Amino acid sequence: MTKTIFQKIIDRELPAEIVFEDEEIIAFWDITPAAPIHILIVPKKLITSINDIKDEDKKLIGKMFLIAKDLAKEYKINENGFRTVFNTNDDGGQTVYHLHLHLLGGRKMSWPPG
Ligand code: 5GP
Repeated sequence: MTKTIFQKIIDRELPAEIVFEDEEIIAFWDITPAAPIHILIVPKKLITSINDIKDEDKKLIGKMFLIAKDLAKEYKINENGFRTVFNTNDDGGQTVYHLHLHLLGGRKMSWPPG
């Protein structure tokens, strides 16, 4: 199977500005930021999208949000607010088929999203 861009970042075959890493999760700056703060939180385990998460992934998904919370504090967007997004498949705007949580902040977000 061809590696996703994110798998190549995890495997250090592609560079990225990594802001967090442990044995299960990596987080790095988005290469095309949609906001002043735009970080991607990615499980090292290959899960293609939300459609593919399993019961056994509950803790891992929860941990992604705890890391989002910590990074929001670290980058000082926790007080003003921020947005966390999982895009799923074509209509959801997903372009990389390796589960990732977008952490976006540093500007006022509009609603509904485009
Ligand atoms: P999606 O559209 O799948 O929800 O989000 C994929 C995100 O990955 C996009 O925001 C895109 O800018 C980002 N991205 C795509 N390729 C790379 C890359 O090579 N490096 C980094 N850091 N981000 C990438």
